[in-house]
Amino acid sequence: MLNLILFGPPGAGKGTQSQFLREKYQLTYISTGEILREEIAAETELGLQVKGIISQGGLVSDEIVAAIIEKKLSENLNSPGFLFDGYPRTVKQAEILDEMMAKYHISLTGVLSLEVPEYLLVERMLERGKISGRADDNIDSIKHRFEEYEAKTKPVLAYYEAKGNLHPVNGVGEIPEIFKNLCQVIDNL
Ligand code: AMP
Repeated sequence: MLNLILFGPPGAGKGTQSQFLREKYQLTYISTGEILREEIAAETELGLQVKGIISQGGLVSDEIVAAIIEKKLSENLNSPGFLFDGYPRTVKQAEILDEMMAKYHISLTGVLSLEVPEYLLVERMLERGKISGRADDNIDSIKHRFEEYEAKTKPVLAYYEAKGNLHPVNGVGEIPEIFKNLCQVIDNL
């Protein structure tokens, strides 16, 4: 199995690159952000619970996303592999994921960390906001998403570095070029 985490700050291109990666490597794609947006659109109880937090750029609770991940994992155990996009976003989530993978006898192949300087990220997200319709692609929410990233998500990098799982990838350039960078790393794992 090929089990990958695509890591990176908001706007790094995780969603875009995931679409190419899942296709090429036939992976089961798990984007907690996408699943939560679907819940909001469907106006489920969970959707209503997280709507405000997401539109303001905050993080939803570790328990909520853990439940989403466990459902997806357990339903797709025969898959060639998993691609996690936007998860884990806290060290607690990384620990939960370790436990869950152990429970289902799955092992993490690697963490690909897309590296993009912050000024480019904000530009990209504001551009995306013009067409994405995402409630959190506005300047105030973007600022808060970065604060959350710095405070809670960045420490996840050190967690995986200590385990020898971290693989930085240059996330600046044209989309196909970045995809090539990612594939090179994956094919050497
Ligand atoms: P994304 O589509 O990955 O940019 O996620 C959009 C929003 O969904 C984030 O800003 C958070 O509010 C929420 N979210 C997505 N994944 C997580 C997660 N792993 N932990 C907490 N909140 C999350």
